[in-house]
Amino acid sequence: MATPEHLLQDWDEFEQGAILHSFVDGDPSNRAPENFHVNNSYNYQVADWRAEKPIFNEEFCIHCQFCWIYCPDTAIIAKDKKFGHVDYDHCKGCGICVEVCPTNPKSLLMFNETKKDEDCLNEWPEKESGKDD
Ligand code: SF4
Ligand code: SF4
Repeated sequence: MATPEHLLQDWDEFEQGAILHSFVDGDPSNRAPENFHVNNSYNYQVADWRAEKPIFNEEFCIHCQFCWIYCPDTAIIAKDKKFGHVDYDHCKGCGICVEVCPTNPKSLLMFNETKKDEDCLNEWPEKESGKDD
């Protein structure tokens, strides 16, 4: 089937990446008005099947924003170029944010979904010697 006429665009008219602009500025309370329609995945809680959750430890974070850039579900919410919080309604528990976090020890770690956040923080590993921060 041929591409419908209204979907034909020149190459420089395409947006880079496949982006749904859920937020105006990263703040969930400030959602982009043009996306208030039902097709935006932000309107649905889509993380019920997560088995492990990322837990954030602010003590070690350097606010590099790697986790925010790499999260495939836009579930890292940043504010003023700093880590804000994890959006657990949309985080799928893939662990990519943990993989890319560069600090020593990491500022994000995966824990069992049922574990209390406080217990996770109490089990945070020590800095590994012989590795850079
Ligand atoms: S675990 Fe995956 S989906 Fe959840 S915040 Fe990290 S990168 Fe995003
Ligand atoms: S990747 Fe790690 S250090 Fe960088 S902002 Fe995220 S939690 Fe903080």
